[in-house]
Amino acid sequence: MKLLFVSTSVGPLGTGLGGGVELTLYNIAQQMIQRGHEVQIVAPAASTWDNLPLVQIPGNLQIIAQSQERTDPVMMPENSVLANMWDYARQVQADYDLIVNFAYDWLPFYLTPFFTRPIAHLVSMGSLNNALDKIIKQVAEHFPLTIGFHTQVQAATFALDAYSCLSNGIDLSLYRFCDRPKQQLAWLGRISPEKGLADAVAVAQITQIPLKIMGKIQDELYWQQICEKYPNDLFEYLGFLPTNEMQQVLRECRALLMTPHWVEAFGNVVIESLACGVPVISYRRGGPAEIIQDGKTGFLVEPDSISELVNATLRIDEIDRQTCRSSAEAQFSLEALGSRFEKWFKEILGNKHLRKLNMRY
Ligand code: UDP
Repeated sequence: MKLLFVSTSVGPLGTGLGGGVELTLYNIAQQMIQRGHEVQIVAPAASTWDNLPLVQIPGNLQIIAQSQERTDPVMMPENSVLANMWDYARQVQADYDLIVNFAYDWLPFYLTPFFTRPIAHLVSMGSLNNALDKIIKQVAEHFPLTIGFHTQVQAATFALDAYSCLSNGIDLSLYRFCDRPKQQLAWLGRISPEKGLADAVAVAQITQIPLKIMGKIQDELYWQQICEKYPNDLFEYLGFLPTNEMQQVLRECRALLMTPHWVEAFGNVVIESLACGVPVISYRRGGPAEIIQDGKTGFLVEPDSISELVNATLRIDEIDRQTCRSSAEAQFSLEALGSRFEKWFKEILGNKHLRKLNMRY
């Protein structure tokens, strides 16, 4: 297959601004290339990946969907990188069999019927905005099975009749198992209100177990508020680290705290943690609730309950770290990810009904 991957428009690849989409796109691209397919990635200028074929497109970044209200209109900056990337895709589409959209944005869905090549849409978040919900539903109806989600619980927020559920996967060889953790906890992700870092800092404060924080600061004000509320040395911010450095810290932690205040579509950091043998304590909500086996690979607790997070943290020795690693190996390997996506892409290309639709437009 000749595949054109169009990246998220909220940040250049390699900066962390794109959240889990960056790693997901990287892993799928790598797998497709390894399987003999041709891949070209289209991404905002200033992307830093240099080992994959990348076309860099200039323009202003899109505002993040999480910062908008459900009823907000669709907004685009002038000289939008999203529009520029899709203009590029339109011009080169004849050179590809399939275009894959990684952006959680209205425009690529709206443009779908105007393209002559089929578009697979990988949706990276749960339902957040009415205008986007509506256009996703429309595309799902007219272009069956071209909408992909990571988990059933994420898909349920859109209430579609037909979709593909693709989970996620990582290169397990990059995450080393560690059986002897230090007395420390981890929190990983974009620092932004919906990810709930403040709850994890509260747990560190109550249990007096130091917290290592890694990830991109997306909301500076939210971060400042945390620093002002908890002026102590129980948490340490290490920055947005490359995978290898990140897993060196993560694997030595007793647990990963996952504290989302929204329906997390998947939660890449959950499987990265399990791959290191680190159990995950999470609110019973969104993707993590589908991935973590309560009492086996971590604990699922009442959403937004700090006291339940604390209780689970104090019981963390009940979890066998080897079981965590084995569960990552069994379900979330790069090969499994590659097979799921290859199958999805082939299904779309083999769909005669869809081929006719694209020809008609
Ligand atoms: N991450 C990273 N370095 C860090 C912290 C996080 O590379 O120091 C990456 C992590 O590997 C994961 C992503 O940030 O792929 C966070 O993705 P997740 O799916 O957990 O949440 P999202 O940001 O998409 O809501």
